[in-house]
Amino acid sequence: MKTPYLEIDLSKLRSNAKNLVTQFGTRGIGITGVTKSFLGEPRIANCLVSAGIISLGDSRIENIIRMKEANMQAHFTLIRTPSINDAHEVVSYTDVSFNTELSIIAALSKSAIEQKKVHDIVLMVEMGDLREGIPIQELGTTFEKVLKMKGVRIVGLGTNLACLSGVRPTRYNMDKLSRLAGIYERSYGITLHLISGGNSANFDWLQENDNVGRINNIRLGEVILLGRETLSRRHIEGLHLDAITLVAEVIESKIKPSLPEGQTGQDAFGNTPIFENKGKMLRSIIALGKQDVHVGGLMPILDVDILGSSSDHIILDTTRTPLHVGDKIRFGVNYAALLSSMTSPFVRSVYI
Ligand SMILES: *Cc1c(COP(=O)(O)O)cnc(C)c1O
Repeated sequence: MKTPYLEIDLSKLRSNAKNLVTQFGTRGIGITGVTKSFLGEPRIANCLVSAGIISLGDSRIENIIRMKEANMQAHFTLIRTPSINDAHEVVSYTDVSFNTELSIIAALSKSAIEQKKVHDIVLMVEMGDLREGIPIQELGTTFEKVLKMKGVRIVGLGTNLACLSGVRPTRYNMDKLSRLAGIYERSYGITLHLISGGNSANFDWLQENDNVGRINNIRLGEVILLGRETLSRRHIEGLHLDAITLVAEVIESKIKPSLPEGQTGQDAFGNTPIFENKGKMLRSIIALGKQDVHVGGLMPILDVDILGSSSDHIILDTTRTPLHVGDKIRFGVNYAALLSSMTSPFVRSVYI
């Protein structure tokens, strides 16, 4: 088989997804499966659907269109604020979009009227992480203005934490979101059906709090795929950590010194590398590099060390576990490695 490839174990993914559907479901929280890290690949998305995740969310309209064109039966949410120029496609292809800007909501309204549709929107609230969100003091005027627009309907509130600034979802900020929902429902005589409290970083909050308030939706990507919550990257018991692994092939394996010979300057990427003298070592090169994957996010499954990498090569110290040309070596991936390898045109996906 041609290397490198991501090996995607669909039965492990399905098992992870089912486990989370049950854990969150028993607390009255539905899961939106986030498909952006795998570009909406229908085989993986369908695997989530078969585990009972009927709502899928992606930050990119292209990925949602890909899934719709593959005839997938699910409820699709655009979880990043649309670009104004995408308004038409967002109304055509998604059931809901997350929004923070009146001018964009106005564009959605216009497209929805043209398409004789009503487009549902969730208003994202800024609660401290300082990525997307409407500041709380501006929520009232946003509601007032959007409620006057035709073709769009506010169906819920959402927030996103622990992404840009690492702010933890806690009882305090989750209860605040629940309270805001109640306040605006009473002020405007509406019902907010969807209160979307966060992402894979909401795991500890779920376990530590008996009362989840009005939160009835969580958007999960990483924890389903990689089996870890995302505040401390703790393994969630019962979830597989190795549903997705990356396989690459050895193309050189030779005994060489551990220290470079000659005068040194910058490496290919402008860094000045420092090496430790460990005497002679078995150095194996694999046909995988920075153009394929974020190398810092690779975790070798064998007992080898990553010494360095360039665009197309990763150099391993394989003294303790000798590798030969043609051998395949497998790595666990973190989120950065998953995103980058899924996006590289050189890395295939193999499903088992
Ligand atoms: C990416 C994303 C998610 C999913 O985050 P994970 O950490 O992968 O669970 C949820 N919500 C929004 C708005 C996102 O952009």
